[in-house]
Amino acid sequence: MKPETARAAQDRILQAGRVVVVTHVAPDGDAFGSLFGMGQILGHMGKSDVTLACDDPVPEAYHFLALSGQVVNRLEPVSPADPFDLIITVDCSDAARGGQTLKHAWMESTPLVNIDHHVTNTCFGVENLVDAEAAATTEVLYRLALSWDIAITAPLALALLTGLVTDTLCFRTANVTPTVMRTAIELMQAGADLTLITSQTVNRKPFEEIRYWGQLLSTARLDGRVASVHASAADRRDGGYGVEGDASIVAFLNTAWEADIAASFVEKDNGEVEISLRAKPGYDVSRVALNLGGGGHAAAAGCTLGGPLEPVMDRVLQMLQATQERSTGNPPGQGPAGCGGGL
Ligand code: 5GP
Ligand code: MN
Repeated sequence: MKPETARAAQDRILQAGRVVVVTHVAPDGDAFGSLFGMGQILGHMGKSDVTLACDDPVPEAYHFLALSGQVVNRLEPVSPADPFDLIITVDCSDAARGGQTLKHAWMESTPLVNIDHHVTNTCFGVENLVDAEAAATTEVLYRLALSWDIAITAPLALALLTGLVTDTLCFRTANVTPTVMRTAIELMQAGADLTLITSQTVNRKPFEEIRYWGQLLSTARLDGRVASVHASAADRRDGGYGVEGDASIVAFLNTAWEADIAASFVEKDNGEVEISLRAKPGYDVSRVALNLGGGGHAAAAGCTLGGPLEPVMDRVLQMLQATQERSTGNPPGQGPAGCGGGL
């Protein structure tokens, strides 16, 4: 990470009074770890007027993290007379990922510091601390915190390790390097309880999600070496699963020996289709996601398209099969055009 970019972001924070931190819609463990981690870092930097915001509520699984009770889900449009001094986005690859929250917080004149690790990041901030080699946004935050001389307290370490553990599926993804493992050790030495994290997140699921997995798995199909599952909005309702999304089944589907790429297609209540993509090492689903208006990483990406479900599936499965056939299975080179490789 370029020291001058980190310093510039630090200066902006030190000069700001009212700060809002925004993480992405449909948040995951890295989104929350980064939101609460950044909130704590700002506290250590002496900031007292900090809003933590996200379109979606914090699920019970993340209530063990400090600051989890302080997230604002409905941010009113900011008054031009009383704008935020600074916006910090964490784990957002583009402005749209910040949802309504970011839209309402952001006036043209408000500086935005963008902290992320997605290769598809569009560098929408005045300072862009984007490291696509980092396994999680919390890893970027950890480096920043060290460079800003922030004490890594146990609650901060817990938030940062949560992002690392969840985004790497417990250190199983291809971007886990010795540096990632060293970071995890340092966070544990700082007091983060790894068992608490795994027992609350990756080792735990609501029973209705497990039943929903059964429903989704009954639709599993293999087109060439692309595995997929799908659910219409009616399927979800009939199965008793009210939440939109795939309940993270796509990562499991990607373990299929016969598949190099996995996809889930879930129709939302408004008729749009939410698509989650995963790829084995050497395959890249971020380009397909980016071409469809979404984003992500080579190994994990997503997007949302207008319905109906079946033609969307046909179209995307064809694109994925073409991607799979073009790939060699060797580790990928540069990612798609974004600024994610830029640090
Ligand atoms: P998931 O499948 O877990 O929802 O998302 C996998 C990855 O793709 C995450 O890094 C997530 O941020 C990214 N992603 C998922 N959906 C979208 C989307 O609609 N737009 C963008 N830009 N990224 C997405
Ligand atoms: Mn992440």
